[in-house]
Amino acid sequence: MASNDQQNGLSETRPTAESGGKKRVIIVGAGIAGISAAVKLNEYEVKDVLVLEAMSRIGGRIHTVNYGDGVIEMGASWLHGEEGNVLYDLAREQHLIADPFEDASVEGEGRFCTDYGQILDYEAVKDVIMYLDGIKEDLSNGSYNNDNQTQSAGHVFREKYQEYIDEKISPFHDLKILWGLFNWYMKFEKIDNACANLDDVSIKTYSEWSECEGVQLINFKNGFQSVVNLLVQHLPEGTIKLDHNVEKINYDEDAVKITLENGDTFEAEHVIVTCSIGFLKDNYEDLFYPPLSHRKVEAIENAGFGTINKIYIEFEEPFWTKQDLGFQLIWTNEEREDLPSWVYDISGFDIVRGQPNLLLCWIGGQGAEDVELESDDVVVSVFIEVLRMFQKNLDITKATNVIRSRWKSNKYIRGAYSHHSIEYERKNLTNDDLVEPIAREVEVNEKRVLRPVILFAGEATDRNYYSTAHGALVSGLREAQRIIDYYKQLEE
Ligand SMILES: Cc1cc2nc3c(=O)[nH]c(=O)nc-3n(C[C@H](O)[C@H](O)[C@H](O)COP(=O)(O)OP(=O)(O)OC[C@H]3O[C@@H](n4cnc5c(N)ncnc54)[C@H](O)[C@@H]3O)c2cc1C
Repeated sequence: MASNDQQNGLSETRPTAESGGKKRVIIVGAGIAGISAAVKLNEYEVKDVLVLEAMSRIGGRIHTVNYGDGVIEMGASWLHGEEGNVLYDLAREQHLIADPFEDASVEGEGRFCTDYGQILDYEAVKDVIMYLDGIKEDLSNGSYNNDNQTQSAGHVFREKYQEYIDEKISPFHDLKILWGLFNWYMKFEKIDNACANLDDVSIKTYSEWSECEGVQLINFKNGFQSVVNLLVQHLPEGTIKLDHNVEKINYDEDAVKITLENGDTFEAEHVIVTCSIGFLKDNYEDLFYPPLSHRKVEAIENAGFGTINKIYIEFEEPFWTKQDLGFQLIWTNEEREDLPSWVYDISGFDIVRGQPNLLLCWIGGQGAEDVELESDDVVVSVFIEVLRMFQKNLDITKATNVIRSRWKSNKYIRGAYSHHSIEYERKNLTNDDLVEPIAREVEVNEKRVLRPVILFAGEATDRNYYSTAHGALVSGLREAQRIIDYYKQLEE
């Protein structure tokens, strides 16, 4: 196959066209993976880089919105951990983060209330949570991993919790409360893993994921978007093109040809695809030509990718006190016919840092997808009913606003983040299968080398930190490095 590599070593700078024309590297997606890849390539003097983004904004699943006197996060909220967290290091160096000790957040805290308005004893609740945390820790340590048997996280949690109940060591004796607390914890886990059902999640998703040590819920002073905006400042003007929806990636010829929804075309030597697994599941067949390998398709189809949503509800004035951290919902009856089924996927309502009149509702599981189809009016009226019921407070009658994410309906994302599904494990798939680049053998300076042509980045591709923003950043750096290594090899 013919090669252009003799003419385009790193020292050469190609003329950059405003639109169209040939680029050395095209990156699909201006989330944190795509932007970090562009920044790294730019630092290494690969100046001919273009980022094509389908939406009208940068950041992807990082989406900070100005609200009142502050901001709210529709996507990622927190930096998870300090040690070994490249994103934390970057944000700290640039003074973007709030003090992790003075201004850290909590989630899933506050008053644990039942559907008949009882506030449960906090210490007793903590006892139960500690037991469940112990199971989770064992899962993370791989204690239940068994090479001969694929197990779901849901199964392990249920089995171990039943043992706890049978041992009668819990401070609660009412089985309805005990299972209500268990179900609350599972809702939380469904949100953490972004899955419809914990029975679909492989226990290995716990042991393969790595936690960065340190404070886990670190806030940005001015929102998560501030770190994305900072990274973008390192790019030459015009590097990112918004409203550029890539419809086709044709890698059949020497140069990769990209066709946009509006018919415009671009050519590149390398294309880094950073689209979410949700987007790829829906579009891989039409997006790539020639078709992807069987293994890649299996990895995309079987990677776990579910939805979580955030729904902020505003009141004229708070009905909670300054000491309250939130309200967690412990249902003793999840079969009430007067409420929509999605309500049982809400874990609770948290207070919102810097927003005195807002409560944040977290919803995961199938309910996170179902609630997207409801009108604002229905959502508000259900919330009011639930809050009145759990708070035993009939004075809660009216909300002044509701602000909602709809990650499943977003056709460029199609969910929240990835986990390892049971099928993924059964088929022996790993994130390396998602990462594996498509390479073409070319001849350069009388050497035959493999040129990475289509490269894959994005949160789901990171081996240790999948699902997180820092995992996404690392994945972008990794694929930029692959291209840099390729050019270094040509220079040798
Ligand atoms: C509700 C929610 C809460 C979260 N909370 C946290 C948190 O607290 N901490 C944390 O670390 N992580 C959190 N995450 C996860 C984190 O946001 C993601 O892991 C990370 O932002 C993913 O970045 P990415 O670059 O891989 O993908 P994305 O951000 O999805 O970027 C991919 C980009 O590609 C674009 N794109 C897709 N298809 C095309 C196409 N055909 N043409 C052009 N462009 C295209 C998309 O529009 C998007 O902008 C959360 C996510 C959600 C949804």
